[in-house]
Amino acid sequence: MPDSGPDHPTVSADTVRRRLRIRGIVQGVGFRPTVYRLAVERGLGGWVLNDAEGVLVELEGPADRIDDLLAALRRDPPPLAHITAIASTAVPLEGERDFRIAASGGGRRSALISPDMAVCPDCLRELLDPADRRFRYPFINCTNCGPRYSIILDVPYDRPKTTMRAFAMCRACRAEYDNPADRRFHAQPNACPVCGPCLALHDAAGRPLAAADPVRAVREALLAGRLVAIKGLTGFHLAADARNDEAVGELRRRKGRDEKSFALMAASAEAVRRRAVLTQPERTLLESKERPIVLLRQRPDHDLSALVAPRSPYFGFMLPYAPIHYLLFENDFPPMIMTSGNLAEEPICRRNTEAIRRLAGIADLYLLHDRPIETVCDDSVTMVQRDRPLMLRRGRGYAPRPLALPLETPQPILAVGAELKNAVCFARGAEAFTSQHIGDLKNALAAAYFEATIEKLERLLEIAPAVIAHDLHPAYLSTRYARRRAAGAPGLRLIGVQHHHAHIASVCAEHGLEGDVLGLAMDGTGYGTDGTVWGGEVLRASAVNFERLGHLAYVPLPGGDAAIEHPVRTAWAFLLQAYGPEEAKRRRGGRLADVDDDSLRLWAEMIDKKVNAPQACGLGRLFDAVSVLAGLCAENSYEGQAAVELEACLPRQAAAEGTCLSGRQAPDDAEPYEFAIAEALQGWVIETVPLIRGVVADAEAGRTPAYLSARFHATVAAMLRDAARRARHETGLTQLALAGGCFANDRLGRLLVPALEADGFQVYVHRDVPPGDGGVALGQAHVAASRLRSELEG
Ligand SMILES: [Zn+2]
Ligand SMILES: [Zn+2]
Repeated sequence: MPDSGPDHPTVSADTVRRRLRIRGIVQGVGFRPTVYRLAVERGLGGWVLNDAEGVLVELEGPADRIDDLLAALRRDPPPLAHITAIASTAVPLEGERDFRIAASGGGRRSALISPDMAVCPDCLRELLDPADRRFRYPFINCTNCGPRYSIILDVPYDRPKTTMRAFAMCRACRAEYDNPADRRFHAQPNACPVCGPCLALHDAAGRPLAAADPVRAVREALLAGRLVAIKGLTGFHLAADARNDEAVGELRRRKGRDEKSFALMAASAEAVRRRAVLTQPERTLLESKERPIVLLRQRPDHDLSALVAPRSPYFGFMLPYAPIHYLLFENDFPPMIMTSGNLAEEPICRRNTEAIRRLAGIADLYLLHDRPIETVCDDSVTMVQRDRPLMLRRGRGYAPRPLALPLETPQPILAVGAELKNAVCFARGAEAFTSQHIGDLKNALAAAYFEATIEKLERLLEIAPAVIAHDLHPAYLSTRYARRRAAGAPGLRLIGVQHHHAHIASVCAEHGLEGDVLGLAMDGTGYGTDGTVWGGEVLRASAVNFERLGHLAYVPLPGGDAAIEHPVRTAWAFLLQAYGPEEAKRRRGGRLADVDDDSLRLWAEMIDKKVNAPQACGLGRLFDAVSVLAGLCAENSYEGQAAVELEACLPRQAAAEGTCLSGRQAPDDAEPYEFAIAEALQGWVIETVPLIRGVVADAEAGRTPAYLSARFHATVAAMLRDAARRARHETGLTQLALAGGCFANDRLGRLLVPALEADGFQVYVHRDVPPGDGGVALGQAHVAASRLRSELEG
């Protein structure tokens, strides 16, 4: 459609008046100025305003120009906007010739809130321009960038309902804020050095330090090996020089984090590329306005401390996103660790005083500011698998942006998620709002953050759930929360959803799949409908229900959760299963060789007497056992460590040596171990005994961990491929969903997915939602919504 300006000839244009109701993320993102500009350009009369449902517009003028405005709005919305619906109705003419921006209205609250976004190119230019009045001002922002979700207290989104309410705008800022033609028109966090927040430096005891240039002082401290707590956009980071062994070691010691990799920030994509392999899709993701952490293959010749990411094949890099980061990393400042400002498993700090209290003994210096953070969000973590982004931890930049559900839910739903890597999800209509990553609910602070996040999102989205969807595990804190809340609210209904059904339903929700699908749900543990611990599941699933077609063989876990923390226990159980007690003892190798006889005897007794030795079939446990038998990991100091180390020892890909990208798709020709699929009473079982025997034989023959690992990954891929074919043979279904934490494993994905596609399956994997337990809540919400619908439809 041609662009029609005011000079556009009005050919028999009947004057009409239309009211537009625009929904989505349309507030605080420069929507009204855009509508204003488009209306003025087209000589239309009327007004635009924000209300609690989104944006309301009335336009009066020739119908073709109104249509043209709508087309322009859809084609080129403001950068941070996310339009979910535009409804247009005819209203009586009022004779309005001019267009204006009207005062915000009241009413029901359902406008959506933008995630917090990286500083935009315009603001960045001003930040570094000595002639600009915001030169080097760390809180520069506009309607296209800056804080949103993190500063909102309530809706509608207006300055008095943000943490910026304490700052009165100066005349210059006010003029921008009031000018519909300005990039900062109604930019709620608008501020400048005269009127806005400012930085402050504090010592290890929390006492203010005089510093003419706090950023420079922090740069010097970091280069001197000190640990600095830095308040950023949506939380605190602990920063340390990533090249400095002593500083990184000290950070590990003080933070109580033994082995898990630290996140890194580097000045530019170029600086990242000097330390890690960076493909084009990875670079695009790294530089996206969401600015997630991207897991990238380490280059062998990097200059960073080996303590940054010990025994991991990856570095988790992100680029500067808040203006303060750009100032810190100016002039190619070296890469810094920028890890969440918290102790292991605790949520990230929120308030200045809280940071000083909780990070006491960790930070040598605090770089603080006085713009309060209302809602903290961890940095999002992503990787690129088979050239497409995969979300591993959904947080800053993405939350609370909605995802579209395949079908509308008849009633509002709260899905409370799982236990580890918890996130919650609200469903209303056809939208699902997955919260930011909350964390491990076994931690008391995370449990409080869980409840606070639910309360906050209920208020901001104005959702009063009629249904709470939860996991079947009775001891999960999220399940107990659901029960407690339902007990106190008659009429509030509970819907329990099996863990792995939720995993598969989550993939279906993300891809809009309807009807029955096959699902491979592969993770560490999840509560089964028979009370055993599931996690190696081949399912036939709809959004309403599921059937378990087959699963990995069970193995008892001596000590239950203790076996998950200490994979040597699991490895011993697998060995007993493969050889019986006498031969197992003779042939125990790898990290099992270090275990004393008394412990082995005790664990064997627990298994024999069935005391605290639950039956489990999680693929994650098989990774644990093989990692131990290969001589790698004996303790999981963080979730999934044994599997990470098993993947890490794989022979380096050709691509890691240089810039050849096709090398990443290099075929893996390791020969799988034997395995078998056997009929069982209910469904069939993928036997793991032959695999364990193969691993032990290779270890005894002196094969390297890399060799064992390559064969093991090839075996898992072959097993799952066979299982999928068998499931298709039984059901005739060809749509196949893959979910569960095991699918974060890059090697497995690269081996399995192309093989399944070659077999004629339509394979669906997560992209926007984590494949691990962070994705469970979306699946719970989808199942609950579908059950409600099927009840209504009888
Ligand atoms: Zn901006
Ligand atoms: Zn100002």
